[in-house]
Amino acid sequence: MDKIVIIGGGASGLTCAIKAKNDNNEVIILEKNDVCGKKILATGNGKCNYYNDNQDISNYNSFNTELISKIINDENISKVKNFFNELGLIPKIKNGYYYPMSEQASSIRNILVNKAKEKDVKIITNCNVKEITKEDNKFVIKTTTHSIICDKVVLSTGSYAGVKNIKDVNSYKILDNFNLMIENVLPTLVQLKGEGHYFRDWDGVRIDSNIKLYEDDKFIKEENGQIQLTNYGVSGICVFNLSSKISRGLSHHKKEELVIDFLPTIDNLDEYFNRRSKILGNYKILDFLEGLINTKLVHTILSILNIDKNKTYNDLSITEKSKLVNMIKSFKLKITGTNDYTKAQTCTGGLDLEELNLNTMEVIKVPNLYVIGEIIDLDGICGGYNLTIAWLTGILAGSDLND
Ligand SMILES: Cc1cc2nc3c(=O)[nH]c(=O)nc-3n(C[C@H](O)[C@H](O)[C@H](O)COP(=O)(O)OP(=O)(O)OC[C@H]3O[C@@H](n4cnc5c(N)ncnc54)[C@H](O)[C@@H]3O)c2cc1C
Repeated sequence: MDKIVIIGGGASGLTCAIKAKNDNNEVIILEKNDVCGKKILATGNGKCNYYNDNQDISNYNSFNTELISKIINDENISKVKNFFNELGLIPKIKNGYYYPMSEQASSIRNILVNKAKEKDVKIITNCNVKEITKEDNKFVIKTTTHSIICDKVVLSTGSYAGVKNIKDVNSYKILDNFNLMIENVLPTLVQLKGEGHYFRDWDGVRIDSNIKLYEDDKFIKEENGQIQLTNYGVSGICVFNLSSKISRGLSHHKKEELVIDFLPTIDNLDEYFNRRSKILGNYKILDFLEGLINTKLVHTILSILNIDKNKTYNDLSITEKSKLVNMIKSFKLKITGTNDYTKAQTCTGGLDLEELNLNTMEVIKVPNLYVIGEIIDLDGICGGYNLTIAWLTGILAGSDLND
C-alpha cells in the first residue's frame, strides 16, 4: 500500500487528495494552519470566483509561454468542470465567471474538506513541514515536531502571495534539495507604483478607462474597465491583469509604461471640445470640463500641465488645448515597481514547467515527487484562473497517484 503525503491543504492539495485516494493507498495531508483551505475563504471577496468559461490561454502567464497549452487545453479543462459536478457544486454564473450558488467561499472549502474526509484522507493540521529528502526510494518529511517516511510526495504549499510575512513561506526552499530550476518569483495581481509627484492629488479617484501597456515602447496588451488612482500609482482589476507582464519585465530591467485613456467613450476629443466650446468656451476650464471627468483628476492634469485654472477654454493656446486632449486620452505613466507580496493575489514565476511532466505534474528528475498549484511557474489574470490552475494541477497529480 503506497503512502502518499500531500504537503499543504489548500485548493490544489485538497483537490489532489480527493482524486488520489483509493482503497489501495494511504493519503495524508499535512497542513501548517489549524484548518485547511484558509486562503479559499478570502477569494473573490469572500464569494470565491473559482472558474471561468473563457479559457483562452492568453489569460495565463508563464516564463515558458509555449508550455501553457500543455496544461490549459480543452481536455484538461473539462476535467475541472467534471470534478465540481461530481462534488455536487452548483455554480452561479455571471458573464462566464463561476461562483458557488451560495456566493460563499466557505462552501467550496467545506465541500472539498467534506469529500476528503469521506474518502478517508487523513488530515493533520498545525503541522509545518521544514524539509523533504529522498533516501533510496523513500521520502523523509521533516516537520517541526517529527519525521514521516512515505513513498510519494505532493508539494502544494502555495506561494508568497497574500501572506502576512514571507519569511513564513518555505515552498521554494523545500525544493532546494532537489536542484530544480525556479523562475524568478514575483508578486502579481497587484497594484502598480508609478513615477511622478502628483499621486497625492489624484488619490481616491475611480474612473472607467482604457489602459495600454507598452514594454520598451512596444505595445503588449490593453485592458478596459475601472481603475483606481492611488497615492503611489494605480490599482484595480485592469491594472492587476497587466501586473504579471510588468513584474516580469521590470525584473529584466525593461521600461514598462501605461498609456491611460481617461475618456474612452469619446473618440475624437479635439473635435468634441471644439463643438463644446461653442456653448461653454467662455467658461473657466474647470467648469468647461465639469461632468466629463472626475474633478480631482482635472485638477491634477491642469497642475501637471501648468495651466492656469482661471483661464477659460477659449483662452487656452492651441498647444495647451492639444496637451490637454493628449493628457486625457493618452496619459503616460512610467511604472517603477509593484506593491509587495503581502498585497498580491498570486505570484508569477516559480518551479520551471520544464522540470515537470505536464500530464501528471511529477518532477521529471525526481520520480514520485509532484508539485502543484501556485508554486509552479503558471499564473492567470483575475477571473477564476488561478484557482483553475490549482484545481487542474491537483486533478492531474491526483489522477496519476490513483492509478
Ligand atoms: C485575497 C485573494 C483573493 C483571491 N481571489 C481569487 C479568486 O477569486 N479566484 C481565483 O482563481 N484565485 C484567487 N486568488 C488566488 C488563489 O487563492 C490561489 O491561486 C490559490 O489559492 C492557490 O492554491 P494553492 O493550493 O497553490 O495554494 P494555497 O491555497 O495557498 O494553499 C497552500 C497551503 O499550504 C499550506 N502550507 C504552506 N507551507 C506549508 C508547510 N511548510 N507545511 C505545511 N503546510 C504548508 C498553507 O497553509 C496553505 O493552506 C486569490 C488570492 C488572494 C490572496
